[in-house]
Amino acid sequence: MRDYTVIKNTLGTLRVHENEPLSKHTYFRIGGPAKLFFEAKSTEDLKLALTCAFENKIPFVVLGLGANVLVSDKGYDGLVIKNHAEGIKLVGLKGTINKTGRGIKNASVLAASGTLMNQLARFTIDQGLEGLHFLLSVPGTIGGGIKINAHFEVEKGEFIGNCLLTAALFDVNSGIVKTVDQDYFKFGYDYSKIQETGEIVLEAVFRLDRTVDPQKLWQMAMDNVKRRNEEQPMGIACSGCVFRNIADSDAKRLATPNLTTSSGYIIESLGLKGVKQGGAEISTHHANFILNTAGASASDVLKLINLAKQKAKETYSLNLSEEIFYIGDFENIRE
Ligand SMILES: Cc1cc2nc3c(=O)[nH]c(=O)nc-3n(C[C@H](O)[C@H](O)[C@H](O)COP(=O)(O)OP(=O)(O)OC[C@H]3O[C@@H](n4cnc5c(N)ncnc54)[C@H](O)[C@@H]3O)c2cc1C
Repeated sequence: MRDYTVIKNTLGTLRVHENEPLSKHTYFRIGGPAKLFFEAKSTEDLKLALTCAFENKIPFVVLGLGANVLVSDKGYDGLVIKNHAEGIKLVGLKGTINKTGRGIKNASVLAASGTLMNQLARFTIDQGLEGLHFLLSVPGTIGGGIKINAHFEVEKGEFIGNCLLTAALFDVNSGIVKTVDQDYFKFGYDYSKIQETGEIVLEAVFRLDRTVDPQKLWQMAMDNVKRRNEEQPMGIACSGCVFRNIADSDAKRLATPNLTTSSGYIIESLGLKGVKQGGAEISTHHANFILNTAGASASDVLKLINLAKQKAKETYSLNLSEEIFYIGDFENIRE
């Protein structure tokens, strides 16, 4: 039995909840209880919770908006830190700055890691800054977004990591906070180095160019929202795309239509659209989405994930890999 008193004493007995159902904090509406649950309302709060867990060797996990996770039915045996550390500010302007701001060439924007990507998109578009407009209506926080390198149109290079200048990270091995630059993350499609290191993003600074046409920026962002609403299932609990897209080399090998790398296409071609397991269903609208249509468990979702992986392997010699992250103990995740 672990002694959690120190966590309560440090973070406040009234602010640390026991056995909080994580289903309340995930887009899937799935997940058992967190042994301890704490909502960090500022970057200082977040740092304090991380340091306390680190120093007392208590397992912890940071949850953003829960838009890209599958939490075990058994929950999490440790401290779950829900990141509500929000805040955005302009920290640097470059160019010849006059009263109208017309001479500004670019600006640096600092965001706390629990800031919603949607909020950051709105802020930057309102400021006439280009580069993160595609995040409008993408669910999740800056921290979760940096971990997966959140994106919209991959071909257009619309990745959150492209505009990142620096970030403050909590190192889970040393308990030290360090500032790193964009190169550190080795960003790629659905990839950043912190997936390997487990480091936690505390704050991030983005450098964005001033746009000549702010109205066009809003238009582009709204067009993306419209497309997303047409292409994705709406109003049903889910965690977005479950699988990463396949490699270009696999698309060529399989001669997919227009060499699409869409995992949705692969799953659809395997005849899995609409397949159900318990309360979970592979979406008939977009096959890379698994929906919680009727009180699904994590184990229901996992069975569908394993089924898609098994069929893709047998039929196409293809290894599908998850975009979502698992939290808590799972048995039988298929390789
Ligand atoms: C309907 C729907 C549509 C979506 N559409 C898109 C889309 O168009 N483009 C896209 O890229 N994604 C999309 N997603 C996926 C999701 O929006 C992103 O993956 C987002 O980045 C998740 O952020 P989050 O804060 O919810 O992370 P969470 O789901 O809370 O966490 C994801 C992972 O990040 C870790 N994490 C959270 N915060 C931090 C932190 N501060 N530091 C380090 N690690 C952290 C967690 O521990 C976990 O491992 C969609 C999801 C849904 C539900």
